[in-house]
Amino acid sequence: MLIVLKKEAAQKEIDELLENIRKAGYNPDFLPGAERTAIGIRGNTKYIDEAELHLNNAVKEVLHVTKPYKLVSREWRIQDTLIRLKNGVTFGGSNPPVIIAGPCSVESETHVFETAECLFKNKVKAIRGGAFKPRTSPYAFQGLGVEGLKYLRKAADQFGLAVVTELLHLETLDEVVRYADMIQVGARNMQNFEMLRRLGEIRKPVLLKRGMAATIEEFLLAAEYILAGGNDQVVLCERGIRTFETATRNTLDLNAVAYIREVSHLPIIVDPSHGTGRASLVAPLTRAAIAAGAAGVIIEIHKEPSKALSDGFQTLNFQQFEELLRSISLARSESDAR
Ligand code: PEP
Ligand code: MN
Repeated sequence: MLIVLKKEAAQKEIDELLENIRKAGYNPDFLPGAERTAIGIRGNTKYIDEAELHLNNAVKEVLHVTKPYKLVSREWRIQDTLIRLKNGVTFGGSNPPVIIAGPCSVESETHVFETAECLFKNKVKAIRGGAFKPRTSPYAFQGLGVEGLKYLRKAADQFGLAVVTELLHLETLDEVVRYADMIQVGARNMQNFEMLRRLGEIRKPVLLKRGMAATIEEFLLAAEYILAGGNDQVVLCERGIRTFETATRNTLDLNAVAYIREVSHLPIIVDPSHGTGRASLVAPLTRAAIAAGAAGVIIEIHKEPSKALSDGFQTLNFQQFEELLRSISLARSESDAR
């Protein structure tokens, strides 16, 4: 429930209202904003007498948030949430799309430094790379672990980049928080509720990827767990879902991007690498994602994709990546000129 307050509401009336809500057994959220000031009540299972609320002169109107997710909804917060990483990279609002790029897995120190140098040369400010890898086969490369986190941090610090890396299991939370600027929750962990709860307690941005069989509602409810825990720095990531289609690895759901922009204030980015599973499709789907309103993209790149230890077939080499960057900056300047 949202209680929208009158612009001229007196502080005394607001305090009285908050006190009455607390007496009724709820923990009200005070939501000041440029467009409106409101009080939110979450998880209200008990009857709330609306007529009584209206007796307080501060109350303009009472709205019912009909969606099961509350804190992540646009009803709760009208304006776009901006998520800023330590090096200044900002997602959301009118900021240009953020490019995050790097290998699927961190493979060696040299490999990470070569990638970081390529990003720096191309003015890309965030590096991705998995140190702990969720692999379908137990025989596949599982990642370098903490060693990999250290390489990412070292290379990122040398080139002024932000580190985006996956938290695969909770036992490594402290290490990942220590070395990363943005903590990725992979598709396979999107409904690891214990992990979501713990990420609600920390104060670092989270990149929450959509589960491969998750509906948009389940995706937003997963984000709701993190916000409900007290961490409102969440960037969503559409990375493709399983459908009957087998020509591509996944079906990239760009509907989700445009839809989520309508119903949520959180920024949403797109992963065209996992979304398509094919290097040749990464550039067109990056452009489509930006056209659909994505706040950024996360792209797998590697010096020699054919030698990559994971996901080589969907990975761009440095030259292909540079061509893609040129194509989006051209597209951007054309739209700016319009
Ligand atoms: C990844 O980003 O390398 C990854 C494993 O992605 P997802 O969780 O989307 O499969
Ligand atoms: Mn990958």
